[in-house]
Amino acid sequence: MRFVDEFRQQEAARGLARALAATAARLERPVRIMEVCGGHTHAIFKFGLSELLPAGVEMLHGPGCPVCVTPRGKVEAAIALARRPDTVLVSFGDMLRVPGRRTSLLEERAQGADVRMVYSALDAVEIARSNPDRTVVWLAIGFETTVPGNAVAVLRASALGLENFYLLTSQVLLPPALRAILDAPDVQVDAFIGPGHVSTIIGTEPYRFVAESYRRPVVITGFEPLDLLQGIHMIVQQVAEDRSQVEVQYRRAVPSDGNPIARRIMAQVFEPVDQEWRGLGTIPASGLRLRESYAHMDAERAFAHLMPDALPDSSACRCGEVLRGVVRPPDCPLFGRACTPERPMGACMVSPEGACAAYYRYRPHA
Ligand code: SF4
Repeated sequence: MRFVDEFRQQEAARGLARALAATAARLERPVRIMEVCGGHTHAIFKFGLSELLPAGVEMLHGPGCPVCVTPRGKVEAAIALARRPDTVLVSFGDMLRVPGRRTSLLEERAQGADVRMVYSALDAVEIARSNPDRTVVWLAIGFETTVPGNAVAVLRASALGLENFYLLTSQVLLPPALRAILDAPDVQVDAFIGPGHVSTIIGTEPYRFVAESYRRPVVITGFEPLDLLQGIHMIVQQVAEDRSQVEVQYRRAVPSDGNPIARRIMAQVFEPVDQEWRGLGTIPASGLRLRESYAHMDAERAFAHLMPDALPDSSACRCGEVLRGVVRPPDCPLFGRACTPERPMGACMVSPEGACAAYYRYRPHA
């Protein structure tokens, strides 16, 4: 398959690994590289890329899985709305299994709640259009990659004049999270693998502060094995040459200016807001809420009396530390015992992009 097979050739991978090892031999100290996209985390484990890295190059897993960073309070809010009579709660599939305080959306559905899984925000609009006597709530989570789709759904619902369509938002922006990680006293990161998908929307400019103010390299990278090996090599070259720049390995998908049309639609519908992240706390201007002209679709406003207080992360689950790269999944005492993909105790074990789920699937005895 074009754009897949050509980026999975074993001999080319071995050649890149040799070049990476030669460059890493020039490093004066170990380098810790954080991948901040769950797709990268999944690919690194799936293809066993950690085994190809030379000594002195270490990968950390960051907060790039949208399901994982959605705070527990938002899950509880979704459950409270799902329990409401004549309400349809619509979500991406992974969110259904994230545990709340006592149940999950999937368990609520088993108890009779109308919880539906879809593949796009426009599917939720269609459910609202064809069920005018029901309240339809779209659980709008995600990074910059999925926000344009949520914005289009709002514009579509508005054009249709729907009065029964609402959004419960937990939309997050990556650059403020990078700043929070760089400012965190317990996180040691030397460079970032930049997210391939988010960057198709935002381009390269929003990462410039990482390279210029924090002096950390960022290389926006694709998702196949050769992409990742090349992206890691580009980072190690920067460190070896004492450079810190924003570079793009994933040129076949990421233009420098991203997707201005998608950004314009996002800005038309949403505005920045302080946002709570699981594991990172509340980060200033790191989320997006509906602008005043669309606030009548905001589920948190319309059903404010049902919204729970913020919930702290579960004391047993170490997902928050996993998301900051402070601990690895096997460091959690519940990993593989009380917490498995079949019975997840935390969000990091739910989504295939979560570090705990990736570890469990590909390195169960790590
Ligand atoms: Fe949380 Fe489970 Fe990961 Fe432990 S293994 S940090 S309980 S998600």
